[in-house]
Amino acid sequence: MERTIFERIIAREIPSTIEYEDDEIIAIRDIAPSAPLHLLIIPKRVIRSVDTLEQADAELVGRVFLVARDLARKHGVAEDGYRVVTNCNDHGGQTVFHLHFHLLAGQPLGRMNSQAPTAPKASSSMLFEGGLLVLAAICMAAVFNSMNPKQIPWVKKEYERTQATSSEIERYLAPAPVPGAAQGAVPSMPTAPTEQATSATSTSPKPSETPATAAEKPAERPKSTFVAEPGMVREIGYEAFVRLMSAGPFHLIDARGAEKFAEGHIPGAVNIYGGEAQSRIPDILQSPRDRVILIYCDGGECELSHHVADVLKQFGFGPIFIYTGGWAEWQTKR
Ligand code: AMP
Repeated sequence: MERTIFERIIAREIPSTIEYEDDEIIAIRDIAPSAPLHLLIIPKRVIRSVDTLEQADAELVGRVFLVARDLARKHGVAEDGYRVVTNCNDHGGQTVFHLHFHLLAGQPLGRMNSQAPTAPKASSSMLFEGGLLVLAAICMAAVFNSMNPKQIPWVKKEYERTQATSSEIERYLAPAPVPGAAQGAVPSMPTAPTEQATSATSTSPKPSETPATAAEKPAERPKSTFVAEPGMVREIGYEAFVRLMSAGPFHLIDARGAEKFAEGHIPGAVNIYGGEAQSRIPDILQSPRDRVILIYCDGGECELSHHVADVLKQFGFGPIFIYTGGWAEWQTKR
């Protein structure tokens, strides 16, 4: 077998920095130090690795450690500490197959478990089992979701968000034709109130915004013209919302949850939570068809209002106006 680099160093065929030497052991500076002090303590006898040690080598190996101790003391690293290690064969990282011990010192060397081997990579069977678990979880979630009346839509529905034009709003502000009056005349005063408006509570809008009751001015308020527009959904702002409520019969729906509705709502509103719109179809079918439908929720994107409007639309209701300011804006305008 070819002689190793250390045999040649011991034979002085290759130069090295010798730190210690006796008949059995030599200690040299490592040519590529891994620490401020990196010495190699090498038994001169040819022993390939720890794995080829024999009983007869026991004393020699014991002496190696005594040499290490003395060298550490000599270099002033004994008190701070040092490491004496030997690598064995391929997985041990041995590159020179002549038994030797590394003496490392001069800085904190870290704990041995800080270089723990990385976790074994997931096997294909583990991946398969993990995939099955995820699939099962998705299926269960789908089943529970479909059984839940407040089910979450799988895909966020994009609703038609069309702003009502002024003519679309005016159409529902016009009073019914009065004999002798010009067709399409714009009313000079608010038209008939609604049954919702008459149920106004302490959260009623300002007097100027609230439709007056039929008992207050019955003779001055002819009914507005109502022309059904099945499937028509339009978004409106505060002003149009108030005007439509003042103009004639309307059906007002609060699409927020029951708790929020209980805390406060626009007078006259009925509560149909947007998240349950499908399960409220029987109630929705009871909604009057001879008037505009006004819907609001918290305001903003108006998802809940659009959910309700979508169901109403399916059953041919319309026109439907969504007040985009919602409860949030209404409170600031009261
Ligand atoms: P190991 O990888 O445990 O077998 O250690 C072998 C060590 O020998 C390495 O740290 C090398 O840097 C060191 N080494 C290799 N050649 C020389 C040399 N000519 N003089 C001193 N150290 C050497």
